[in-house]
Amino acid sequence: AEPAPVIEIIGLSKRYDSGFEALKQVDLEIRRGEIFALLGPNGAGKTTLISIICGLVNASAGQVLVDGHDNVSAYRAARAKIGLVPQELTSDAFETVWNTVRFSRGLFGRKPDDAHIERVLKSLSLWDKRKNKLITLSGGMKRRVLIAKALAHEPEILFLDEPTAGVDVALRRDMWEVVRELRASGVTIILTTHYIEEAEEMADRIGVINGGEIVLVREKQALMRQLGSKQLTLQLQ
Ligand code: ATP
Repeated sequence: AEPAPVIEIIGLSKRYDSGFEALKQVDLEIRRGEIFALLGPNGAGKTTLISIICGLVNASAGQVLVDGHDNVSAYRAARAKIGLVPQELTSDAFETVWNTVRFSRGLFGRKPDDAHIERVLKSLSLWDKRKNKLITLSGGMKRRVLIAKALAHEPEILFLDEPTAGVDVALRRDMWEVVRELRASGVTIILTTHYIEEAEEMADRIGVINGGEIVLVREKQALMRQLGSKQLTLQLQ
C-alpha cells in the first residue's frame, strides 16, 4: 500500500480581503521523504500556499492535514514538525549567528540543545561564523542562516520559498547540495521555484501552479519527457 502522505491538502482556496482569489480548490499530497518542487511564475500562489500550510495565513476554504492533524496553526506540536525558510532574512542584523539560530529553536517550545545547534551550524558551514553579526555576512551565508534557523527546532518537513532567487550560479549549486543532504537525513522537502532547471535538478516530483490552480503534478522523469510538448510550454507561461 502507498504510505500515508505527510501533508494532505484538500480543496484549499484563498480569497484575500481585496477579493483576489490566490488559490482555487487546490488538492495536493506530499509524500514523506520526497523533494517536491512547486513550480510557477510570479503571482501564481506559491507563497500563499506555503503560508497556509505553515499556519501563517488562514485559508478561505478547505483543509490541510499534517501527519493527519488538521488546523496546524492551533497546535504547537504540529507546527513544530514544520520548518520554513522564507525568502528574506528578517532577524536583527546586529545579532550573532549563534544567538539567532539558538533563539529560533525556542520559538517552537523546544528545550535548548546547544549540541543540536552546533550540528546544524557545522552542517551548513556556518560554525566559523557563529560569532559574526548577521550584517557582516555575505548573501550566501545569510541564505545558510535562514536554513539554520528553520532547522533549529528539528522539523520533519522543510519548506524553502524560492531558495535560489537572485543568487549566482555557484551559490545555487551550493544550495542544491545542502537541500540534498537534508533529504538524505530524512527531512521531507517542499521548495518553490521559478526555474525549471532547479525543479529538474532537485525534485522527485514537480507540481506546476498557475493562477492559483495546480495545473499538473508529475514524477520528475515523466514531466521532463513531456517538456518538449507545446501544451506544457503554454501552461508554464
Ligand atoms: P512570487 O513568485 O512572485 O513570490 P507567488 O507564486 O509566491 O509569487 P503569491 O505571493 O502567493 O504568489 O501571490 C499570489 C497572488 O496573490 C498575487 O497576485 C498577489 O498579488 C496576491 N496576494 C498575495 N498576498 C496578498 C494579500 N495579502 N492581499 C491581497 N493579495 C495578495
